[in-house]
Amino acid sequence: MVVAGFLLFLYCAVTAGAMAYYIVLKQEDCELEILKAKERFQKYILQEDSILQERQELEDKVSRVYTLYDITKEITKTYDNDEAFQIFQQRLRDHAQYEYCLLLSPLSSEVSALKKDPEHLVFPAKGKKELLGYLAIKGGREEDKDIIEILTNQFALGLRRIHLYKEVERLAITDSLTQVFTRRYLMERFTEEMNRAKAKNVNLAFLMLDIDHFKNINDQYGHLAGDHVLREVAKVIKEAVREIDIVGRYGGEEFSVILPDTNREGAHYVAERVRSVVEARTIRAYDKNIHVTVSIGSTAFPHDGRKISELIDKSDWALYRAKKLGRNRVCAFGVYEE
Ligand code: GH3
Ligand code: MG
Ligand code: MG
Repeated sequence: MVVAGFLLFLYCAVTAGAMAYYIVLKQEDCELEILKAKERFQKYILQEDSILQERQELEDKVSRVYTLYDITKEITKTYDNDEAFQIFQQRLRDHAQYEYCLLLSPLSSEVSALKKDPEHLVFPAKGKKELLGYLAIKGGREEDKDIIEILTNQFALGLRRIHLYKEVERLAITDSLTQVFTRRYLMERFTEEMNRAKAKNVNLAFLMLDIDHFKNINDQYGHLAGDHVLREVAKVIKEAVREIDIVGRYGGEEFSVILPDTNREGAHYVAERVRSVVEARTIRAYDKNIHVTVSIGSTAFPHDGRKISELIDKSDWALYRAKKLGRNRVCAFGVYEE
């Protein structure tokens, strides 16, 4: 009986021990599982963070692309540097903090001082080869530097487009040989100036110039030297008149000048100055010193007519008279007949 009881006790003790051991093992397994699950959870959290970060970066990129698209679209609407700069500044305000922004010319003496100033961020606005200017941004934050740089590059592209457009426009109205205005543009300006003179009730003068015996220059020195003489005479005419006067090539070796706010006497005075500076100028062409003279016919609104065709015809007639009277001289329309 005692033995049986002992055996039962032993059985129970061994079974309980085995179960306790089994439970401990299971607990360890569970703890391991929990640890693994925690690790996995941590990984997912990290992954979620990096996905969120990636999403944020992508959203930033999209916003930048839109900004670039917007700024490009807006800047391409204008052909004016100042207006393009206004647009750039507005866009920059949406994306960066700063006090103010300056657009400086490539030759500005302020640039080197501003580059050294810690309060300013200075960015070059580069064209394809040339430097178009500098943007100096006061109070710009270091963290906005990237976006400022990107927008500056886009602005530089806009500036380059405007420069190219202006160059094409200039070439379209400029005579390629002499670099003065083409006859077509000269006539457009003549119409505008005549309308303005009528509206404001002011004078307007017109000169017609022709190089004397130019054929001889070509014959004597060759056509290329003749071309050079044409270029130099055009230069001399431009130097002898005011900035607001409009010089154009009327035909082969004929030039015209529109003189706003100038009466008959003024026109004669300017024409005489042009004539004398051309006469005094020595033109160097292929080791030769060439001298030329010009004959000039002048007219003025309203004295000689109220229509541009009338002034042109009368200037031409006066020029013809100047040639007849011996060349290298100025004739005002009608004066020789008085
Ligand atoms: P005048 O004093 O009567 O004006 O005599 P001119 O010899 O200047 O006049 P003419 O009209 O007989 O000759 C003009 C010359 O100008 C003839 C033409 O070959 C030359 N010419 C016109 N255009 C050009 C040009 O683009 N280059 C050169 N080299 N010559 C030109
Ligand atoms: Mg001629
Ligand atoms: Mg001539």
